[in-house]
Amino acid sequence: MQALPAAGPRRRLTSHLSVVVPLYNEEENVVELHRRLTGILNGRGIPHVLYFVNDGSRDGTLERLRKLASTDGRVRVLSFSRNFGHQMSISAGLAHADGDAVVVMDADLQDPPELIPDMLDGWAEGYDVVYAVRRKRKEGTLKRAAYALFYRVLRRISNVEMPLDSGDFSLLDARVVGLLRSFPERNRFVRGLRSWVGFRQTELAYERMPRRAGEPKYRIRHLVKLALDGFFAFSTVPLQLSTWLGFLAAGLGFLYLLYALASRFLYQNPAGWTSLAAIILFLGGTQLILLGVLGEYVGRIYEEVKLRPLYIVDEAIGFPEEAHGAVTRLGGKSP
Ligand code: UDP
Ligand code: MG
Repeated sequence: MQALPAAGPRRRLTSHLSVVVPLYNEEENVVELHRRLTGILNGRGIPHVLYFVNDGSRDGTLERLRKLASTDGRVRVLSFSRNFGHQMSISAGLAHADGDAVVVMDADLQDPPELIPDMLDGWAEGYDVVYAVRRKRKEGTLKRAAYALFYRVLRRISNVEMPLDSGDFSLLDARVVGLLRSFPERNRFVRGLRSWVGFRQTELAYERMPRRAGEPKYRIRHLVKLALDGFFAFSTVPLQLSTWLGFLAAGLGFLYLLYALASRFLYQNPAGWTSLAAIILFLGGTQLILLGVLGEYVGRIYEEVKLRPLYIVDEAIGFPEEAHGAVTRLGGKSP
């Protein structure tokens, strides 16, 4: 995939900018996030609506959001019936966000709101996607190395040119949001889909801040799941692995057969059971691994065909359309 190179025609906001923020147990960050966001947006005179998606938090996040919505008419809150995950919260936010463009950012202020005006400048120049790229990660060496490896491998094996070191922090033109919204798939790796749509994309370098307060919500298990989603949703290379390994094993097996025959008939020295055990273990192991790879795809197909909604909205606060039932409570069902 190669995005269109140059910027398109210049444009400006005709209605407003939407900001989508997923939140899971972020009670310590809600108020400060809102203060920084409105500070920069009001300071620059950018008309905006804030979409906060409460992803089944167990702490006081929802109460604080409720309070914000009662004092700031530009705050809208979607609250899930349980925890559906980061990518689903973003999807829900995108499903309801309106305006000329939408910014997606984390709640823990690792993504500085002060970058939004620059993103908007990129959009005004005609870019449809402006994504932030981390200049430096302030995380442990191990996590950093894992991220670097992940993005590089993904880039090699996926059919999309996914930018290195970019997360979900980005600005999307309304047209791109409309497209992402129309994707029915369950395994939603938003940053991958964002590259996949194409159009004019550009990057903006920034320093990723350390999380302001609270624990990171992404445990290693979730990161691994996200990484696997990235691999399996955007590449069928792992499926071809078995073909190549099969050729390799068959080739090696043939060579070994020649060797075994030679040692049996030329040197009267039959190969013993040790070598047999080694070969069986090697082949058995390879087959199990490849079954696992197949399983990853089959499992994902199963998830897709069930056609369950992506998420369930328990409560929608601050939506003007609320009274008319315009808030979709079941994500993923056709509107
Ligand atoms: N988040 C969410 N649902 C989850 C986990 C995380 O909505 O199940 C939100 C979280 O509140 C934050 C963002 O997703 O706004 C990124 O989470 P976190 O900061 O824990 O991830 P990291 O920055 O370590 O990638
Ligand atoms: Mg974070």
